[in-house]
Amino acid sequence: MVGTPGASWRMVAPLTAAQIGERELLARILQRLPPIPSSVLVGPGDDAAVLAPERNERLVVTADAVVENVHFSRAYSRPHDIGHRALAVNLSDLAAMGAVPRWATLSLILPGTVVVEDLEALVDGVAALAVQHHLAVIGGNISRTDGPLVVDITAGGSVPPRRWLTRSGARAGHDIWLSGTIGAAAAGWEMLDQGSGIGEQRAADACIARHRRPEPRVRLGIAISRARVAKAAMDLSDGLADALRQVAAASGVGVRIDADSLPIDPGAREWWTGRRVDPVSAALIGGDDYELLFAVPPKSGRALRAVARQVADPPLTKIGEFTKDHTELVLVRGAVAEELPDGYQHFSRR
Ligand SMILES: [Mg+2]
Repeated sequence: MVGTPGASWRMVAPLTAAQIGERELLARILQRLPPIPSSVLVGPGDDAAVLAPERNERLVVTADAVVENVHFSRAYSRPHDIGHRALAVNLSDLAAMGAVPRWATLSLILPGTVVVEDLEALVDGVAALAVQHHLAVIGGNISRTDGPLVVDITAGGSVPPRRWLTRSGARAGHDIWLSGTIGAAAAGWEMLDQGSGIGEQRAADACIARHRRPEPRVRLGIAISRARVAKAAMDLSDGLADALRQVAAASGVGVRIDADSLPIDPGAREWWTGRRVDPVSAALIGGDDYELLFAVPPKSGRALRAVARQVADPPLTKIGEFTKDHTELVLVRGAVAEELPDGYQHFSRR
């Protein structure tokens, strides 16, 4: 028997942003945001927000946008992932400063053809991560575009006086520590882009998840700042090689990295090895890891172990040390020392 046409199929075209208009869109977005804490005196919906500053704390502010077909593809990421990612990259910057996330503004630049349900899922992705980190979404903006979808977020956090972490505090002799693993997000993007599977599906899924939903190291950033363990820090948005070069340049020191110590994600290693790509170079250059790189004086070893116990996940790895000669940017492989690769740079590749 032939079923009734349309019984289980949605026959009505989904609503788009252009169809319902800005006011209705805004109402739907506001409905999905987490409740506003008492420190937000005026929240979303007015011309601007009013905040009560944290007592005796310094304000840390950052901004970062994710752009369709540059940072994500709608073919490879679900709307919820895109919202998660847009906030995660900002939280990662706050973590790299040692700040506690407090608030964010959300600017959505939307093609009129965006389906409202997808937009709601995107906002849910932002809201879920905001709730996880007790962050208030205090306002924002919606604009229409004929170009790609953009989610632009400004985020604020707070840190006690003189406890913020910068890129410029590394000194010769400090150990270089890294959280988690590297390479997975870059390999995950390649897996999606090239569309071919690898032997171990679970490892591939893990890499793809790292690309879609980076996990900002918020607890770790706060812990290394409060314990005074780290003297400099940076998050890995454009790859480990780039971060090492940036911290070295800002601090006026060199770096010596031990290739064997690099915590390369096993799935990424397998992916690159299978394609005859050097996993060490690929993991150093590949972006989007959102791990923390930080400088630790050797005498702070005990304090660092206490932090590692307190923040059990992600694990921490010592990958080398900062050196006196600022022209030295070296990767040591066994007995051979080679120059550290250049990092990934926007506008020049991809
Ligand atoms: Mg950063």
